[in-house]
Amino acid sequence: STRLMPTHRVTDGFRSGKVPLGLKRKGLRIVVTGGAGFVGSHLVDRLIARGDSVIVVDNFFTGRKENVMHHFGNPRFELIRHDVVEPLLLEVDQIYHLACPASPVHYKHNPVKTIKTNVVGTLNMLGLAKRIGARFLLTSTSEVYGDPLEHPQKETYWGNVNPIGVRSCYDEGKRTAETLAMDYHRGAGVEVRIARIFNTYGPRMCIDDGRVVSNFVAQALRKEPMTVYGDGKQTRSFQFVSDLVEGLMRLMEGEHVGPFNLGNPGEFTMLELAKVVQETIDPNAKIEFRPNTEDDPHKRKPDNSKAKELLGWEPKIALRKGLPMMVSDFRQRIFGDQKGGDT
Ligand code: NAD
Ligand code: UDP
Ligand code: UDP
Repeated sequence: STRLMPTHRVTDGFRSGKVPLGLKRKGLRIVVTGGAGFVGSHLVDRLIARGDSVIVVDNFFTGRKENVMHHFGNPRFELIRHDVVEPLLLEVDQIYHLACPASPVHYKHNPVKTIKTNVVGTLNMLGLAKRIGARFLLTSTSEVYGDPLEHPQKETYWGNVNPIGVRSCYDEGKRTAETLAMDYHRGAGVEVRIARIFNTYGPRMCIDDGRVVSNFVAQALRKEPMTVYGDGKQTRSFQFVSDLVEGLMRLMEGEHVGPFNLGNPGEFTMLELAKVVQETIDPNAKIEFRPNTEDDPHKRKPDNSKAKELLGWEPKIALRKGLPMMVSDFRQRIFGDQKGGDT
């Protein structure tokens, strides 16, 4: 027969992802840890739409069933309440490992749990990948660069991270997760992929999760002042979630381990971000200054040239184009108009 071998089957002895892109293939079986969260749920949408079977593994610390509810009843979708700090037995072709709170407010809430999630959780998912021969993608972070002394940041930069500060549970946790991924790759031959994600925003972010874009948008919609921490001159570069999901999928399907920066190089001070939110929501929105948090990185901007060259990926959606899509989602969830909210 001219049919392709069903290379998605681990038992075939083939590695996953070896079917050339563009050729028809059978759906893969994919685990998305943290799939009920902000980024994970958008990734799940794309994988389901592509024809894959998806198992979401989530402990609902910051994720919500509402984010994936529209797949309930689809036989290609499964939702498991599980904490990745505990071992997990499954048979799949690919593992997208996203489980970990991403907002500083959430990851500082129980820092030891954050470390366990990053270290023990990642170890378990790598052990799983090794046992079943699955390809494993780690969602690391631009925070591995710490308060960077190199600008913009390239993947070759080793970073400037405080090992004993209040952000360390996350920064150092992710750095260790990267180390584990590379050691499983070198030592056990696990096919790994490492993404270093820069600040990402979009629909389905937790409304009160404390990150800057969600804070400013929710505050402006509720006619509360936007809280600018410190002098507001620190910078971040904001990526729309659909660009990130495209990058994660290209990375998983491609042949390169990484790490790869995935971010939008459009860099804004927090004061400039507040202005964009004013333009988008309410020109009269007020700004209120608050003391900054400890160890806040002064600037952050990805150098994307490696992802552009090797993955053919670059972000497409500028902040002024992406923000309105997030605002209409927040409007619905805060005020419950139109389709009704799920706050
Ligand atoms: P999120 O908080 O919305 O999603 C994380 C998900 O993981 C949630 O559904 C949460 O319930 C789940 N989770 C947390 N701990 C878990 C555990 N121990 N066991 C099982 N599930 C657990 O965050 P997000 O923005 O969607 O981020 C997803 C991933 O991307 C994270 O690993 C994060 O570190 C990384 N990342 C995100 C950004 C960003 O700007 N969004 C930037 C850099 C890195
Ligand atoms: N693990 C898991 N599911 C599996 C295989 C392993 O959760 O299908 C966990 C296992 O409990 C262990 C971790 O992954 O804590 C690392 O597994 P590995 O086999 O690499 O190491 P070992 O078990 O020898 O310590
Ligand atoms: N920030 C702010 N106001 C807020 C929340 C955050 O000015 O209400 C600032 C914060 O001090 C940091 C930047 O926005 O400089 C990005 O913070 P966020 O928590 O979104 O993500 P981070 O990049 O720090 O992980």
